[in-house]
Amino acid sequence: MTKIVIIGCGVVGAAIAYELSRVPGLKIVLLDEKVPASGSTKAALGVLMGAISHKTKGRAWKLRQASMERYETLIDELESLTGIHIPFNRQGIVILCFSKEALDKYQN
Ligand SMILES: Cc1cc2nc3c(=O)[nH]c(=O)nc-3n(C[C@H](O)[C@H](O)[C@H](O)COP(=O)(O)OP(=O)(O)OC[C@H]3O[C@@H](n4cnc5c(N)ncnc54)[C@H](O)[C@@H]3O)c2cc1C
Repeated sequence: MTKIVIIGCGVVGAAIAYELSRVPGLKIVLLDEKVPASGSTKAALGVLMGAISHKTKGRAWKLRQASMERYETLIDELESLTGIHIPFNRQGIVILCFSKEALDKYQN
């Protein structure tokens, strides 16, 4: 049994712990000096930021793409594991574009 300690239970630590919990043979402990999700995670608006960047290649893009793909199954998975309804919407956010160039960036 491999033991893993993750320090910091914001969304990043929690997501790492959750994904690793699906790997057999790992014992995972998640520590936080405060209440879990009381840092930046508590302040977040909850907007999935993957689509904000315009880059579509490179390592960061691949990670972002994998995250967005994972999101497709994650909510259902967490709902069935916890029995808790997780409300979310897929209507996106409003961005005001004050020039044609700004608008073009969002149409690709
Ligand atoms: C106002 C605001 C709005 C935002 N809106 C969005 C958004 O809409 N979409 C988006 O994607 N991102 C958003 N973000 C960014 C997002 O909130 C952060 O990127 C994300 O929450 C970071 O998560 P984290 O787990 O790395 O950090 P945190 O949530 O800060 O978690 C870190 C944890 O580590 C713990 N910790 C720190 N040091 C120690 C230690 N020495 N020992 C034990 N525990 C420790 C802390 O107590 C904390 O719980 C927003 C941020 C802010 C401030």
